[in-house]
Amino acid sequence: QRLGFAIVGLGRLALEEIMPAFAECKLAKPTALVSGDAAKANQVAQQYGIKPQNVYNYQNYDNLRNNPDVDVIYIVLPNSMHREYTVRGAKAGKHILCEKPMATTVEDAQQMIDACKQANRKLMIAYRCQYEPHHRAMIQTIRSKELGTVKLIQADNGQNQGGDLNQWRLKRALAGGGSLPDVGIYCLNATRYLTGEEPIEISAQTFSTPGDPRFKEVEESVTFQMRFPSGVLAICSTSYGFHEARRFRVFGSDAWGQLDPAFSYNGLRMMISRKSPTNSMAENISEVRLSEKNQFALEIDHMADCVIGNKQPHTPGEEGLQDQKLIALIYQAAQTGKTITLPRVSGLDVTR
Ligand code: NAD
Repeated sequence: QRLGFAIVGLGRLALEEIMPAFAECKLAKPTALVSGDAAKANQVAQQYGIKPQNVYNYQNYDNLRNNPDVDVIYIVLPNSMHREYTVRGAKAGKHILCEKPMATTVEDAQQMIDACKQANRKLMIAYRCQYEPHHRAMIQTIRSKELGTVKLIQADNGQNQGGDLNQWRLKRALAGGGSLPDVGIYCLNATRYLTGEEPIEISAQTFSTPGDPRFKEVEESVTFQMRFPSGVLAICSTSYGFHEARRFRVFGSDAWGQLDPAFSYNGLRMMISRKSPTNSMAENISEVRLSEKNQFALEIDHMADCVIGNKQPHTPGEEGLQDQKLIALIYQAAQTGKTITLPRVSGLDVTR
């Protein structure tokens, strides 16, 4: 059994990663497209064997309601549009897989959760790394205490953002912010799934190069620090201004473990470093070799499996909402220059 997916928004991610990933899915297939560009959508439909009558636009999107070929809607639009297309999609009776960041405000994220609950439909946020074998292995390594007691996590994700000055990523209304919600979110989300905890303290700084036309509306760089209930500290950075970094390192009392790159689509590498048992001056650094899997295919199949088996997705709307709340607090901490204290809550999913 393969569930039918409608892909909404045929931009770079949808065309270069998501559509090809369906070839590696076992439980899902693309059965409809939603786009403002009919010529492009028809061409993509032909390429992937999608029926011409299953090509929609943003106006007749709600007619998906009458299309039994579609079980799940995958929203791959600019961030500020996630809320509207999730709410309309749920009202049309479809389950929703939505790209990260979930939304541009906490209120929008909450509305998305409420709409899917009301329609009794599943909502999953596409945190692809949480379905990826290297990240899963690192979580397992931490939980089994192979690193000893985790003390600190360092995570960096960014790249020098080139291209069109008019792109939606540089518009606050469409993106909700700059590097933080777009790529810094990977660092934030990683600290949460690696610890299995929620932060209790946040401080942060932002910087945008004066006069750089890219950063009229959104920030260039953010650093943020967090404290977790068990005592783990996290130091994170994200930027649209520096050359690529997509990595994290987890420092434990007995060893460190790192993924570098961690947040790329492929080529992930996992290293563990321990003191040598025979030479106190030496470090044993070993690479954990895992076979590469298509992260998007894993994530899409997970959503399909949850719908087929009526299970809660591993990264439900609540997971996106929590990041959305923390992003707002990181901005607040940066603006006020004050450390924000949060109540202790248990990790959203202790099994991870
Ligand atoms: P993109 O700009 O390449 O594509 C966006 C699509 O939305 C385009 O087809 C565009 O035509 C359409 N669109 C509709 N209304 C629009 C409007 N008002 N303004 C601009 N575009 C409009 O962007 P993308 O890189 O494909 O990102 C889409 C979503 O996917 C974002 O939420 C982004 O954060 C997310 N994303 C996730 C990953 C990941 O690894 N999971 C990677 C890249 C992007």
